[in-house]
This record gives sequence, C-alpha cells and structure tokens, in this order.
Amino acid sequence: MLGFSAHITRNNISAPLFLHLEQQFHYHSGLHVCKPKNESHIAVLGSRFVAMASSLRSLVHDDSRYQKSFQLFLECSSEHQCMRDFINNILPDILASIGDGKSHLNVIGVGSGAGEIDLEMLSKLHLQHPGVTVDNEVVEPSSQQLLNYKVLVSRTPDLEYINFTFNKMTASEFEEDLKRKKMIKKADFIHMIQMLYYVKDPEATVSFFQSLLDKNGKLLIILVSGESGWGKLWRTYRSELCNTEISQCVTTGDIKSFLDSSGIRYQNYTLPSQMDITECFSEGDEKGELLLDFLTEVLDFSKTASPELKAGVLELLRHPDCSVESNGKVIFNNNLEVIVLNQLT
Ligand code: SAH
Repeated sequence: MLGFSAHITRNNISAPLFLHLEQQFHYHSGLHVCKPKNESHIAVLGSRFVAMASSLRSLVHDDSRYQKSFQLFLECSSEHQCMRDFINNILPDILASIGDGKSHLNVIGVGSGAGEIDLEMLSKLHLQHPGVTVDNEVVEPSSQQLLNYKVLVSRTPDLEYINFTFNKMTASEFEEDLKRKKMIKKADFIHMIQMLYYVKDPEATVSFFQSLLDKNGKLLIILVSGESGWGKLWRTYRSELCNTEISQCVTTGDIKSFLDSSGIRYQNYTLPSQMDITECFSEGDEKGELLLDFLTEVLDFSKTASPELKAGVLELLRHPDCSVESNGKVIFNNNLEVIVLNQLT
C-alpha cells in the first residue's frame, strides 16, 4: 500500500486529461502553479527547466479552450470507439456473472461525465439481467455534466427499470457522506472510467470502492495504459508539464503495481486506441496547437513553452515509443486499459 502511494507521488504526477475540467479548477482553486515536486529530477534538469515550468499555465485555466481541445481530441482519436467495442464484446460476459440471482442490482458510476458510456453499459446489464430493477447512483462533481446526464436520460427510451440518484460530489465526498450517515452501501457493479487522474489518492479510492462490492460484484476501472504514448510522455516530462495538485498522472500500470503488491487479483484488457497528432507538427496550425495543449495540458503550449521544452516534447511525441508514422500521418498510441476487480475475500 505504502509503496504504491510513494510511487504515485514520485513518478506519476501530471496533467489532467479527457475531461471537462472547469469543475476541477474550482475544487483546487488556489493551486494553480505548475511546480516540479521531484527534487532529484529538479537537480538533474537544472534551474532553466524549473523556472520555465512555473511559468507555464495549465489548460484548466481556460475552460473554453479546454473544451475545444477535448472535442478535437475526441474527433482525432478512437477514444470512445474503443470503449464501445469493449462494452459490446467483453463487458456482457463480465456483467453476466454479477448479482447472484438477485432481482435488484445496485450500480455506482464514479466520474460519469455526461453518462453516454454509463447508459451503454446499463443497457448491456439489462440484456444480461432482464426483469431485474437497477438502482444507479451517479457520483459526479460537475453540475454541467450532471445536467447533461439528466438530459440524456430524459431523451433515452426504455429506462424504466432504472432508478437514478444523482450525487453532485467527488468520490471522496461520496465516501465521507456514506461514513457520516453510517450507511452500509453494497454494490453489484461499480465503474470509474477515465477519472482516477482527478482524485488525490487513486489507491485509496480503488480500495474504498472495492470494499463496497457485494457478493459477485465487479469494480471496473479504465485509464490510459502504462504502455501508451501518454505513459511515455508523463514519465519523461511530468516535472515540466504537470500540476500535481490538480491531477495524478496515473496509468493502469500504476494501479496494477499496487494491486500486485497488495496481492489483489484482477482481470485486465487492453483497448487499442489511436490519436492522429499529425497537425501538431505544422508550426502555427490552429488544430495542431489545440491538440498540443491537450497533450501537454499546458495553455498555449506552443507560445509559452521554451524552445527546448517544445522541441523535446515534439520529438518525443513522434518517437516510436509514442507514435507510428505512416502515409504522412503521425499516429499517437492512445491505448487504454480496463481493470476488473472482484469483491475482496
Ligand atoms: N466517465 C466518463 C467521463 C470521464 S471524464 C467517460 O469516460 O466518458 C472524468 C469525469 O470525472 C468528469 O466528468 C469529471 O467531472 C469527473 N471527476 C473529476 N474529479 C472527480 C472526483 N474527484 N470524483 C469523481 N468524479 C470526478
């Protein structure tokens, strides 16, 4: 356990990704400066990089630019498609094994966003357990996302079997809330998809939600894979690019090390995914600059990063460790990984 915390703190500090970050910004307001935390790394890099790092602003400071770059990321990547493939091809078998014959199932979605992926999973759950009613708790701190989720529910037919409870809170607020109310909440299916970057202690969060699992329950986690281009980028440039107070640069590699060291068994599946980053290499290209902001999580990266940092990041992004080049395109490795946990025995 301790080993994992230390690992997260030392090695996996980085920028937030894939999300609508205005809410994060509010939760952590006051902690806006990107400061390298790793002392030995600082010594190696020298003062030039340290000074530069603190002058870079996080993309979260400009929500409209964040949203634009996030949308562009979705258009240029197979992020959502690879999740859908998993939901269609693999998830049904996982869901079939939950519930232990009960007529009512409890589901918790943590960091559900606008709920598109949640509803797709719930529909697979329904197919596997027809006639079973579902209590679906949504834990999502962004009011905008909760609103989007509610609108989606209101527009989606045939959801009568589900009772939705919307909790406008973070994962840790949800935990505190349960503890304060001394409630014993047991769940058959819990998911946290692309959200563990935004909790202070990913290890503790996983452990807490795993402790809520009922008999045959499953906890599903999706994050970028440690082997993805993101993993490589984060391992190389975390000190320069990251705001450790806002997010953890955690990959499934880190979660798996923690689980392995704690002797916790899990299943895992890699979801191959790609992102076309070709435009990042055309100086002055608007799309390229937005994508670079998303990749580095730095606001106006091209204009504000030092020439050395910019050159280093661009070189790494097209390096075979991160991308493949074919037909004039640079395709970044955006692989995700799913981890599935059972109830602790
Ligand atoms: N699961 C969705 C959304 C992922 S984006 C999907 O894959 O499509 C990450 C989501 O986590 C955002 O909606 C964000 O508001 C939410 N989030 C951020 N910090 C959180 C926290 N501490 N606890 C729970 N959710 C959080």
